[in-house]
Amino acid sequence: MDIGARSRPPFLGGARRGTARTVATAVLVAMTCGASTLAAPSQAAHAAPPPGAVSSAVSSAVSRAAASGALAAPDDRTKVRPRPRVDCRRVKCVALTFDDGPGPYTDTLLAYLAAYHAQATFFVVGGNVVTYPRVLRRTAAAGHEIGNHTWSHPDLTRLSPARVRAQLGRTDQAIEAVTGVVPRLVRPPYGAFNATVRRQTGRPMVLWSVDTLDWRYRNSATVARRALRAVRPGSVILFHDIHPTTVRAIPRVLRKLTERGYRFVTVSELFGGHPPRLVFNAAPPELH
Ligand SMILES: [Zn+2]
Repeated sequence: MDIGARSRPPFLGGARRGTARTVATAVLVAMTCGASTLAAPSQAAHAAPPPGAVSSAVSSAVSRAAASGALAAPDDRTKVRPRPRVDCRRVKCVALTFDDGPGPYTDTLLAYLAAYHAQATFFVVGGNVVTYPRVLRRTAAAGHEIGNHTWSHPDLTRLSPARVRAQLGRTDQAIEAVTGVVPRLVRPPYGAFNATVRRQTGRPMVLWSVDTLDWRYRNSATVARRALRAVRPGSVILFHDIHPTTVRAIPRVLRKLTERGYRFVTVSELFGGHPPRLVFNAAPPELH
């Protein structure tokens, strides 16, 4: 299976490192770690936010619920059109995921997604969050899911446990400062992780089932074709919104997949709100 972990997009020109990991290894890790979730700082923050963070956490939870249609304050009804809940067991769903931003092309991408009422998941890098905070705020406000993609995009398997936690924790803080929400999902850079990395957070690690290799193919037609050729119901597709060629490919992806009857959902929505601890390749859901 092509899990994509073998392909390592250079982050902003950085060097590629490390070795490929296999599905078997990853599955073993998932099973090994299933019953031994350690409390990482990020989890502690989830469980017991500092006093000053409570009100913002609550208000952000309310606004997020309102955005999802679960809770609509009367005053907002005229402004917010609740998005109907998508049941991915009954309809064809796909999760578009965008890594390494936010960046200068993200706003254009948001406009494309909005035109198709598409929701997506953005795995952002903390260093870019502080550079483009307003872009991230608009992304979250549009209802997209935000995931943690570390602070500086290192290969986490080469870091000490403390440094792994620092990469995730610092990014959590930056994202929460901008959006009011701590991300629920983690995507390790290059898809690289091991048992030690896995133990540093209890959150789902989200890989992908379709790799567009858009960092290699800087050609919009190629990127769109690779996505459209491989997509299946339940696919998690990997893109990078730091490449303008990728962003220009998205209208075609959205149009063609809409024609095929797909709905564009966040990773969490794809799993009914409860992603497994390891998301590699979403198995096609049973269509009723
Ligand atoms: Zn990345």
